[in-house]
Amino acid sequence: MALKLTGGCFCGQVRYTITAPAGYTHHCHCSNCRRIHGAAFVTYSMFPRSGFRWESGADSMGAFSTSPGVSRRFCRNCGTHVAGEVAAFPNVISISTATIDGCQWPGSPREELRHGWVSSKAPWLDLNDNLPRHEKWYPGLAAAIRAINEGK
Ligand SMILES: [Zn+2]
Ligand SMILES: [Zn+2]
Repeated sequence: MALKLTGGCFCGQVRYTITAPAGYTHHCHCSNCRRIHGAAFVTYSMFPRSGFRWESGADSMGAFSTSPGVSRRFCRNCGTHVAGEVAAFPNVISISTATIDGCQWPGSPREELRHGWVSSKAPWLDLNDNLPRHEKWYPGLAAAIRAINEGK
């Protein structure tokens, strides 16, 4: 059965549809993700653009750059951070996984789920799961994102 996921922001102005599985999902503990989301950490899923479509609200979204080439897109009405875009990977869109309706799994290999940037983890957050942990980026992340970007 073909994948079909929908999601969007809290207020419903921003809506999207996804028809291709994410290539990669991770929990990011970097200080940029933590601060811009106001959360202990953020789960991001990287989807090929070819399988992603904004249904509404995209034109009125805000964008904020947390580092060169990285744009975070949010609903101007309710403030939900929905997506991240990286200039170096124009064919990839990172979606805040928790914005997918019904907390559906984004379709990436479950065994690939991992924690990144635990060197920046909030000190009051205890991780008690058995997922792989990486001090900074998962070493295979660049290759994984490149593969999604190239449609592999
Ligand atoms: Zn909204
Ligand atoms: Zn991050």
